[in-house]
Amino acid sequence: MRIEQISEHIWSLRTWMLIPVHVWLVVDEEGVTLVDAGISSMGKGIIECVAKLKGGPLQRIVLTHGHSDHTGAIELVRKNAPVPVFAHRTEIPFMEGKLAYPRRKKAVASVAPGLAQPLPETPDGQLQSIGGLTPYHAPGHSPGHVVYYHEQDDVLLAGDLFTSRKGKLRRPMAIFTADMQEAVQSAAIVQKLQPKRIEVCHGTPVLEPAAQLEAYLTLSLKQIRT
Ligand SMILES: [Zn+2]
Ligand SMILES: [Zn+2]
Repeated sequence: MRIEQISEHIWSLRTWMLIPVHVWLVVDEEGVTLVDAGISSMGKGIIECVAKLKGGPLQRIVLTHGHSDHTGAIELVRKNAPVPVFAHRTEIPFMEGKLAYPRRKKAVASVAPGLAQPLPETPDGQLQSIGGLTPYHAPGHSPGHVVYYHEQDDVLLAGDLFTSRKGKLRRPMAIFTADMQEAVQSAAIVQKLQPKRIEVCHGTPVLEPAAQLEAYLTLSLKQIRT
């Protein structure tokens, strides 16, 4: 597994499963947070990396969404440190196998029922910051997909909101995406936050992504129509 510090507070961990799979460790005042849990073979490397960073024990796992390539190492990591797991409340019934993801035939559990808890929200339904990260609901790839913004480092951990190739934003993988039109619309979060860098689970980092947003939207909407 390749480990790289990408900003003051964030480390990126990458492995390959035909395509790259990334997870991130964020070391902040609120302790160490794992963003997404990749595939099961990443578990050992994640645990070793937390120990090496000397930011204290792991405090929590936060998920962008519940697809199995984002939850695979939860069990092993939690055997080592039984931390809470958070996801958007909309996502939880799908990842627990109570509902089938849109466009999928069967409901399949990717986490044990009762394990994931909803990301904390204010009374008016705004997602609250957690582990130094601000979550934003960015649905489409899955109904409860969220992205996590680290304001101080100006980095957006975007999960499967996008893929990317050679530093260019690309659509999420079509076969795994619940509603492509909605996913493309959710890219507006980049306009709002104007991050310096985007990290995606399956792709390369994207620098100054807002500058290519218009091109991304034009290309993606054209691809949807054809
Ligand atoms: Zn996914
Ligand atoms: Zn994925």
